[in-house]
Amino acid sequence: MSEFSAPGVLSPVISDVWDRERSWTLGAYRDAGGYEGLAKAWSYGPGELTQLIKDSGLAGRGGAGFPTGLKWSFLPPPDGGPRYLVVNADESEPGTCKDVPALMGNPHALIEGMAICLLAVGGHHGFVYLRGEVVHVYRRLMAAVRQAREAGLIGKGMGPDGDYDIEITVHAGAGAYICGEETALLDSLEGRRGQPRLKPPFPAAEGLYARPTVINNVETISSVPGIVRNGVEWFHAMGTESAKGHGFFSLSGHVKNPGQYEAPLGITARTLLDLAGGIRPGHELKFWAVGGSSAPLFTPEQLDVPLDYNSVREAGSMLATRAIMVFDETVSVVRVISRWTDFYQHESCGKCTPCREGTYWMRQVVHRLEAGRGRPGDVDLLYEIASNIAGRSFCALGDAAATPVKSGIELFREEFEAGYTTPARELFPYEKTTLF
Ligand code: NAD
Ligand code: SF4
Repeated sequence: MSEFSAPGVLSPVISDVWDRERSWTLGAYRDAGGYEGLAKAWSYGPGELTQLIKDSGLAGRGGAGFPTGLKWSFLPPPDGGPRYLVVNADESEPGTCKDVPALMGNPHALIEGMAICLLAVGGHHGFVYLRGEVVHVYRRLMAAVRQAREAGLIGKGMGPDGDYDIEITVHAGAGAYICGEETALLDSLEGRRGQPRLKPPFPAAEGLYARPTVINNVETISSVPGIVRNGVEWFHAMGTESAKGHGFFSLSGHVKNPGQYEAPLGITARTLLDLAGGIRPGHELKFWAVGGSSAPLFTPEQLDVPLDYNSVREAGSMLATRAIMVFDETVSVVRVISRWTDFYQHESCGKCTPCREGTYWMRQVVHRLEAGRGRPGDVDLLYEIASNIAGRSFCALGDAAATPVKSGIELFREEFEAGYTTPARELFPYEKTTLF
């Protein structure tokens, strides 16, 4: 349990072992009940494991929140050919930083979850596509896979009848944000330049090497062993009616104790901020991002919105990756949007015109405004460019780039208009923004 745990408030499951000595080892994981879920999973008949995950209501934790069991059930009936699991560990969204600590602190939860998922869908080979920059995570995961293989938990001839193969391959990408988009990830894994494919066909029908493929995020698959071990009722005891279970909330920015808070879905940002020690002393909350850099911004008015999919949507944003970035009154919204726009422009893969050209032009205009050299009409122009990217791009990156720009202007238009005459650094000096 984390030092900020309070009964009934946080719900450490994947993070439960983090405080144990060498929590990433097989021994520590097994002491906490690890691999009991896999042992139980062997007794399930065809279709039963997928039904269990469906019944649990587990939704994808990578951002989209798509029902996990439903996704598994989309795979066509077995035809004798291979069926794959691909774990998306290409976590790169600004502010999103949960999968890396989950893998560092508890890699065996992922390995156990992968083995269970492969059993559920009748697959034998799972891949983890890890972002290239995190070499330490790559080493830890490789070591954990080796440990699991040596302990006879995965490998050739598994299961009570000794006839089921479970192989896991860890692959490091080369650090492109677009390779977190599932079909670009598949292209990259196949050895090509990572660019999104047209959908449909969805990966469930035609994925890796054009074979049926389940693609799930690290946290999603790491949540599976707990459900199999403890049952659906246990999972339902956490969360809300529309969003079941536990999830990581990654708090960063101007909070006293930034970090990972694993909590029931539906917790509020106010409670999370309390657990994190509040805004840094002497300052007040100005705005916050609820789901990384690609969702509309929230202000203090939304602090009591339950952080579940429906409530956040009804309040005008997206739960997405639950990366809560907190900004106090010293922060220039224009500068934040400018940094995020730099990021999206740099990471645009260039395949479609609205995103490739639009992110470039948004960057030009927002930089002018940040420097206090805005031209008459620039704020409207910026909003118009963003509006022409959103909904007109080939993949979600275009929408992600446009959304914070539109939201920033809608909420703080006067700050953007100040950019006609005054540089953001004069209105919001860097030295005041600095954390501590
Ligand atoms: P999506 O809603 O298009 O798809 C979600 C999943 O459901 C996909 O796996 C897709 O294949 C599957 N799916 C949807 N409809 C289907 C159908 N009819 N048949 C079969 N399968 C179907 O979302 P997306 O584009 O995959 O992901 C967007 C999200 O990713 C964003 O909301 C964002 O929060 C998140 N994201 C996360 C990161 C990160 O670092 N974790 C980075 C960028 C974006
Ligand atoms: Fe590439 Fe951007 Fe188009 Fe996605 S929206 S395909 S990242 S250019």
